[in-house]
Amino acid sequence: MARFDTAAGAGGALRRLVEGFDRFRGVHFENDHALYDSLLEGQRPEVMVIACSDSRTDPAIICGAQPGDLFVVRNVAALVPPPTTDGAPHGTAAAIEFGVKALGVREVVVLGHSFCAGVRCMLDHDHGGHRFDYVSDWVEIAQEVRREMDGLVTEAERSLIARRAEQASVLTSLRHLAAYPFVAERVAAGTLALHGWYFHFGWGVLQASEGPDGPFRQLDPGETPRPAIGGEAGSALLRSVRSSGAAWRDGG
Ligand SMILES: [Zn+2]
Repeated sequence: MARFDTAAGAGGALRRLVEGFDRFRGVHFENDHALYDSLLEGQRPEVMVIACSDSRTDPAIICGAQPGDLFVVRNVAALVPPPTTDGAPHGTAAAIEFGVKALGVREVVVLGHSFCAGVRCMLDHDHGGHRFDYVSDWVEIAQEVRREMDGLVTEAERSLIARRAEQASVLTSLRHLAAYPFVAERVAAGTLALHGWYFHFGWGVLQASEGPDGPFRQLDPGETPRPAIGGEAGSALLRSVRSSGAAWRDGG
């Protein structure tokens, strides 16, 4: 609230954005037209990222991506809802469908992060004093993580449980993602790989899950990340998803 008390304060933040666009235009339009000339024909990103709306975890910024590199959807806590046929509009599912079917991305990365307020809201029902009409229902997508954490020995520090819950939420989203039929088909065909990444900005490291159930391991410069689901891991998960039956309802 206080941030909007002075027009100068709010204006300063927006003025920085306009100046930022001017620098962007200088790089991509005044000095070098080549990239945007090629992008005029359309986008062909190979990677889709599902990230949190958190202002500290912009995937293009933290991974140094260029225009055209990433197809991105961001939401509270970087969650993927399970497939559903309830007829209601679903923004994240629509973005996944467009990325996988229309753009034909080859990699989907679910990017979680440390100190995620959305995961904390799901875990502790800690709403920071706010009464939410939408956030509380949304984060229930990862309610199985809360049950999993409830089963942990509670002497562990709360911060450790929070970090573990954030990573477990990434894995839950990966499982949901793999249950969309159009995703599962491409994983089975070997043309789509699913990755679970975790940005720990307290440590300044990026980690990746080694499989659909973890563990998370730091990614090193120059390394080609292995998917959590895809190849052998993908086939195994696909079998388990198929055997569960329910996850194979039409989604979208
Ligand atoms: Zn977050």
